[in-house]
Amino acid sequence: MKKASKTKQRFKAPLLGVNEKLAFKFFKTLGVWWQEKRGFYADLIPPQRRWFPEELRSDPQKLGWWFFCVAIPMRGGINSDDAFRFVYELYRDRPDLFNPYVAMYMEPEEIAGATEKVAMRIHPGGSQGEKQKGTFSYQSYQHERIWIHNAKVLVEHWGADLRNVFEGALDFEKAFAKIDHKRSKKGFRGMRRKIFSLMTTWLIEFGLVPDFQLPLIIDFHAMRLLLMHEIIQVEFSELGPGKPRDPLRIRPESMWKHAAVHISEPFVDQVIFWTLAFLKKYKRLLPCQYDIAHGKWFLSRVLCPDYYGNRSFEQKHEDGKRRGLTERLVSDEELLEIETWPVSYRDPCRLCPVEESCKARFPQGPYFDWGAMVRAGDHITYPLRKVEPHFRIITRDMPGTFLKSSGDRVSNSVPKNSVEDKTPQLTLGF
Ligand code: SF4
Repeated sequence: MKKASKTKQRFKAPLLGVNEKLAFKFFKTLGVWWQEKRGFYADLIPPQRRWFPEELRSDPQKLGWWFFCVAIPMRGGINSDDAFRFVYELYRDRPDLFNPYVAMYMEPEEIAGATEKVAMRIHPGGSQGEKQKGTFSYQSYQHERIWIHNAKVLVEHWGADLRNVFEGALDFEKAFAKIDHKRSKKGFRGMRRKIFSLMTTWLIEFGLVPDFQLPLIIDFHAMRLLLMHEIIQVEFSELGPGKPRDPLRIRPESMWKHAAVHISEPFVDQVIFWTLAFLKKYKRLLPCQYDIAHGKWFLSRVLCPDYYGNRSFEQKHEDGKRRGLTERLVSDEELLEIETWPVSYRDPCRLCPVEESCKARFPQGPYFDWGAMVRAGDHITYPLRKVEPHFRIITRDMPGTFLKSSGDRVSNSVPKNSVEDKTPQLTLGF
C-alpha cells in the first residue's frame, strides 16, 4: 500500500493511501476491455462522438470553440450525456454563441434566453432544474457569466484559438498553469483540473493537440470506482446534518450516520496528481489514458447504477414535481434477503470485468445532493446468481447490451449530423 506523498499531503484532503497493485490490474482490465470493445462495451459510443456537429470536423478553430463551450457545463452533478445533448441542441439553435468574437459582447440574459428555449424543446412539460434551463439549471447564472468571460479571455489572450494554450506546453501541469485563473490573468473561469483534463482528452482525440500524457478524468464515476474497489483509502467521517442556509436542505436524519467523504477540489487534485504520475510510470505496460478513462466511465455510468445495492431513495414532495433529498440507501441486511431485490432483476454486475475486486457501494444520490460520496455498505452479489440457470450461460466477455429500463434520463432520439447510434439505450445514472 502506497501512502499519499508529502507533496500531496500539503492539501488538507482525505487521501490516505493507494493500492497500486490493484490499481494496475484494474486500469489494465478496463482499458483493454474498452480498447477491444469486449462484453458490454461492444456498441457503446462516447458522448463526445454521439452529440457532435460533424460540419466542425474540418475547421480546427471552430472545433476548439465547440469543445471549449461543451466543457463549461460539465461541473458538479451534471450528467455529461445530457450536457452534450443540450449543448448540441444549443449549437443547432444559436451557433453564434459558440463564436467567442460574438459571445464576448453578449449579456448573460441572451445566453439564458437561448438555453431556456432549448430546455423547453427537449424537456417538454417542464425542464429539469428549478431554473427551467435543463442542464444549465445547475449554477446557471455562473455558466452564463463564465461563458462570456471565457470567450473574452480566449479572444484577448489566446488569439481565439484554443490550440495556442498548448504551444510549448505539452505537459498537463504546465498547460493547466497557463489557464488557471488563480495564477494567471489569462485563465479561464470554471475550469479546474478535472474539466481541463476532460476537455484536453477531447482535443487530443479529435487531433487538435498532439498526444501527451494526461491524468485520468477524476469525476464522480472515477471516484466511485476507486472507492468501491478500495484502490484509494480515504478518511471517512459521518455525513451528519450539514449546515445549509435553507433549513429545507438539512440532510434527513436517516442519512446522518453513514460514512462519507466530501469531494473537494484538493481531494480531486490529489487523485489527479496520483493518476498522472502512475500512468507516466507504467506508460509502457498500461493501456493509454483514453482507453482507461472510457473503460471506467462507461462501467460506472452503465452497469453500476443498475446494481440494486447502489440505489438511493428520495424524499417525496407534496407537489410530486420537485426532486427530494436522498433519505434512504439500501442496507446490507436487505441485500442478503432475496425477497427485497427487484422482481426480474437483471444483475448488471454479472457483466462487470472487475467484479472480483468490488467491495463497497456508493450510490449517486448523496453526491448530487451534497457533493459527498456516501458508503452504503458492502458489495453483495445478487443471491439468485448462483441458482438461476440463465445467468450461467451469459459470460462477461460476450458482446451484449444492457437494455434501457424505466428511470433512464437519456433520450433515445439521435440528432441529424451526429454519429448514428445503433446502440440500444442503456440504463444510466450520472
Ligand atoms: S461489480 Fe457491479 S457495482 Fe461493482 S464495479 Fe462492477 S458493475 Fe459496478
